[in-house]
Amino acid sequence: MSLIVQKFGGTSVGTTERIEAVADKIKRYRDAGHDLVVVVSAMSGETDRLLGLARAITDQPVPRELDVLLSTGEQVTIALLSLALEKRGCPARSYTGSQVHILTDSAHNKARIQDIDGSRVRQDLDAGRVVVVAGFQGVDEQGNITTLGRGGSDTTAVALAAALNADECQIFTDVDGVYTTDPRVVPQARRLERITFEEMLEMASLGSKVLQIRAVEFAGKYNVPLRVLSSFEEGEGTLITYEEGTMENALISGIAFNRDEAKLTILGVPDQPGVAHKLLGPVAEANIEIDMIIQNVAPDGGTTDFTFTVHRNDYPRALEIVRQVAGEMGAREVSGDDRIVKISLVGVGMRSHAGIASEMFETLAREGINIRMISTSEIKISVVVDEKYLELGVRALHDAFQLDQAPQQ
Ligand code: ASP
Ligand code: MG
Repeated sequence: MSLIVQKFGGTSVGTTERIEAVADKIKRYRDAGHDLVVVVSAMSGETDRLLGLARAITDQPVPRELDVLLSTGEQVTIALLSLALEKRGCPARSYTGSQVHILTDSAHNKARIQDIDGSRVRQDLDAGRVVVVAGFQGVDEQGNITTLGRGGSDTTAVALAAALNADECQIFTDVDGVYTTDPRVVPQARRLERITFEEMLEMASLGSKVLQIRAVEFAGKYNVPLRVLSSFEEGEGTLITYEEGTMENALISGIAFNRDEAKLTILGVPDQPGVAHKLLGPVAEANIEIDMIIQNVAPDGGTTDFTFTVHRNDYPRALEIVRQVAGEMGAREVSGDDRIVKISLVGVGMRSHAGIASEMFETLAREGINIRMISTSEIKISVVVDEKYLELGVRALHDAFQLDQAPQQ
């Protein structure tokens, strides 16, 4: 007998038929003797529909009111799912975020969970009920409804699992696990049995959309074993956990990629202390997130060059800001490119193996793919290449590192 927190995403509860199918699945787990807390998203498309309603009234909805509106999507699904469970003779109770005291800060639309009082949930579990909780929402100290940011139901589930000390947090979704890369790009991509929190965090921040980044962070921090599995098919899914002896013996676990990249280059910046801050400070102040940065000392010694990447949506703003600052600083030239992508190899095995980077570069060279930027961390190597090489690059790397085959133990 174990306590499992299960989360069903928007597609899994997208119609009443699907909600009934989810109820059948939950009942099977219940009949097998597990205690269950179930977190649901809004029906698919519902959060976007609500956002559209707000936008029809104003371009700049007041964040507090937007949260009151958006939180209704999940309130519908908790009630419908509980009805479906009760119909099956499976006692259930639905709760909104505030009813189970999911306490957050007051940052509307992107609030962070600070505390959860599990006592009410525990009482229901002790009474033999399935507890159904609305994902994506909480309440601040003042009693205002908050939401956690898009995809936030994953975080609700992990936070509840941590607070209740659950044995596992299961995220049911429309894919049957975490793959070595996106199967739409590489049909031979393989489902991973296991992956570490660290690797999953890299994959999520580098563009893999299977799990919300914050949820993975939370799971790692509180050591909540996290499993991604399909709502529609049977299977073991992928377990995300700490590194251990039985881990697959892989150098590389996966290849992530991100199409939403753009880069800016500033040439001939007078090389003095403080120029990086002068140049990049205003970009950060405009709330534009900078990813990779390269600074190079030019051969003449007196000037330096910068290249950095931003999200493609932020590219026009960033270019405008940089043009102005570079002008003021007396830089020689500003240029940019928003037809670039980032491809990353991720694997904890890299720590103990040299030569992965050179194999990566060799593979790309063989395909005639020019690398524009490189960045590395302990467990990842990222390259920026022209957009047109994305598919070719990912496929070549998947092949070269034999990710379609299970690693030897
Ligand atoms: N319903 C919210 C969204 O669409 C939260 C979630 O699905 O996790 O982003
Ligand atoms: Mg979702």
